[in-house]
Amino acid sequence: MRRPLSIAVLGATGSIGRQALEVIDRFPDRFRLFGLATGSSDPGRSAPVVVRASDPDAEQRLEAMVTHPDCDLVLVAIPGARALRPSIAALRAQKKLALATKEVLVMAGPLVMRLAAEAGHDAIRPVDSEHSAIWQCLWGERPESVRRLILTASGGPFWSRPELDLGEVTVADALSHPRWSMGPKVTVDSATLMNKGLELIEGHQLFGIPLDRIDVAIHRQSFVHSLVEFVDGSLKAQLGNPDMRLPIALALSYPERLPGAVPPSDLAEVGRLDFEALDRSRFVAVDLCREAARRGGAQPAVLNAANEEAVAAFLAGNLRFSAIVPTVEAALAAFSGGGEDLDGILEADRWAREWVGAKVGKVRK
Ligand code: MG
Repeated sequence: MRRPLSIAVLGATGSIGRQALEVIDRFPDRFRLFGLATGSSDPGRSAPVVVRASDPDAEQRLEAMVTHPDCDLVLVAIPGARALRPSIAALRAQKKLALATKEVLVMAGPLVMRLAAEAGHDAIRPVDSEHSAIWQCLWGERPESVRRLILTASGGPFWSRPELDLGEVTVADALSHPRWSMGPKVTVDSATLMNKGLELIEGHQLFGIPLDRIDVAIHRQSFVHSLVEFVDGSLKAQLGNPDMRLPIALALSYPERLPGAVPPSDLAEVGRLDFEALDRSRFVAVDLCREAARRGGAQPAVLNAANEEAVAAFLAGNLRFSAIVPTVEAALAAFSGGGEDLDGILEADRWAREWVGAKVGKVRK
């Protein structure tokens, strides 16, 4: 019998982290919990290594955990830019990465993918549901056969309400996602469609597909998790009830599939599948992300940091919902240069946070 895969879970008390622990617990002959990292909250369980963000030397202890010889795979589900350093450390130590935090690839895609190539075949297994779907559609296919990736988007809570003044949207409105239950940051990103723009950059980096060959389709039922179109015109999709335990289980067990990882889907219950084109004039975030990624360098890092700060300001009641994306756009326009090595990226990240902080401060007065 093989040794169980030894796993460190970063972001263990968040939505993805908790579901990952559920998957690990359900398959004890396959997986063993090696480490837990949390924010300030109590992880609520034990593991050989536990790191809290509030611990002294938390950053060094986190790095020691993810590079430890007894750790095989690191599940990265810390929200936002803080996930970058431990992800890079894990890849440098040749660990497998189950990556839920898309910001890692948005901020530092070229650097992270270079390290992933050195860390071996399929070193990064996507946990984001859309990218897990595309990953599955690409298994057994040749790169030259792929014409286009199509990311599906639920559209968020405001898609089907064109009469709504987005300037009047409250925090409670933005946090009421129609399908998925997620943390507040990604839920607001879903409402602005910024989440889909970040996923476009993530897909571009992860699968090496040019930005102009990645499209978005609005699909309210969230049953089709994304599609790949091939050069012969064939479309492949991955479908199922929305349940993050599936992409999590697959990222841990790849290339095997775990029997009964999620309950089966009932097609008759789903009934119908609807698709719509993205309204690019009302929701400009996807095009903004595409443009930032096309410019490259540290632009995507600025985009990501400015968005994190703008979303935090909205959640704190200091910025209107309709000002989130324009604030990010203004930060990108104000940014000059910056390299795409780690120092350049971290410097751009810091610059964007300060820039948005100063701007939001002015708005508040
Ligand atoms: Mg997603």
